[in-house]
Amino acid sequence: TQSIKPLVAGNWKMNGLAASRSELEAMIAGAAGLSDRVDLAIFPPALLVPAFAAAAANTVLGVGGQDCHAAPSGAHTGDISAEMLKDAGATAVIVGHSERRTDHGETDAMVRAKAEAALRAGLVAVVCIGETLDERDRDVTLDVVGTQLAGSVPDAATAATVVIAYEPVWAIGTGRTPTTDDVAKVHGFIREKLAARFGDEGAVLRILYGGSVKPGNAADLMAVPHVNGALVGGASLKATDFLAIASAC
Ligand code: PEP
Repeated sequence: TQSIKPLVAGNWKMNGLAASRSELEAMIAGAAGLSDRVDLAIFPPALLVPAFAAAAANTVLGVGGQDCHAAPSGAHTGDISAEMLKDAGATAVIVGHSERRTDHGETDAMVRAKAEAALRAGLVAVVCIGETLDERDRDVTLDVVGTQLAGSVPDAATAATVVIAYEPVWAIGTGRTPTTDDVAKVHGFIREKLAARFGDEGAVLRILYGGSVKPGNAADLMAVPHVNGALVGGASLKATDFLAIASAC
């Protein structure tokens, strides 16, 4: 796994206004010096994607959406397609984030259809999976993660088109993180499953860890085997924190 270039992805969730552009500019400036060892991408709310993508064009910072509809267009009021994100300059899209799975009832089949839409549109799909606290307490984490992985990831996935993000739901936005041993166990399991399903591609697909990654814990988490970067929520809103996490890779 040493040859896999890490990715640090920042999920802004429903945060950010036009004025947030100054943070973006600081990220673009800082990303340049890190780009030989880590890829960086930021996922602002959809309304900011066109302006952010224009500002980040021809820089090393990728810009993506936080969700997309599975269809390219049609009668789906309020939704945004992968093609629209691509048209707005996005390079990637997050699909199946636990907040989408919970707030919008997204199933593995829906997430897979969205990931397939991303590939169809030429976007990298960041496919999120992860167990709830109840599932962890019941000791079914690997079953849950295995089912989500099998159900949410398209058959056409390659290392260039799909990134897996393992995010224990109970670690998101809570300040709690699993032990590095627990992260190693789940990431090792995901790697085995990917290699079994996708062969050589599965051995090099990126597996990000997400859930309360901060500048202070990033180096420990990024050193875990089969952790190929991070999906960062709260700490990605500030360029200084986001860049410090990327520096820890
Ligand atoms: C996320 O939402 O993907 C996330 C990991 O959030 P946080 O870093 O705030 O826990």
